[in-house]
Amino acid sequence: MTPIEEALDFARSLRGKTYHPGRLLSDNDKTCISINLPIKGHCTPTKRCTQDCYGKSGHLAYPNCHRKQKFVSKYLKQKNIDDLITECKPYLGIRLNGVGDLNPEHLAQLFSLARSCHRPPFWGLTRKFNMATAVNGARTPKLTLLLSVNAKPPD
Ligand code: SF4
Repeated sequence: MTPIEEALDFARSLRGKTYHPGRLLSDNDKTCISINLPIKGHCTPTKRCTQDCYGKSGHLAYPNCHRKQKFVSKYLKQKNIDDLITECKPYLGIRLNGVGDLNPEHLAQLFSLARSCHRPPFWGLTRKFNMATAVNGARTPKLTLLLSVNAKPPD
């Protein structure tokens, strides 16, 4: 590795350690107030996704959006989500995975989030049968995950 490559790696590692978005929630015309997650590593895009996914173009595909989506995915796996709870509390509804999809490692904090916020209902769409079953089967008030079906069956 050349000194320049080393310096670039170091700079990238610093950036990764210090990055924290100003807000964890996202707000856009398509999904309103939402918790957005990455497509990569979270979705198995179908042919229809390739044609219609609004996460693949426009604002939601900007590099800073991807960076935030990756951050939120990691954030939802950690123990303390107080910042997100504080952000969610004032709203009347919050869409889960406005873009991307939930992974099983997000579940524990998703339940915690819904239990901690008495006002907004949390709802979202998933293409993962096991995620819809796990979330809806727990019957947590104000937490619903709809199974999304297109020409290809859910994952
Ligand atoms: S499941 Fe939704 S977010 Fe994921 S690639 Fe398909 S349309 Fe996009």
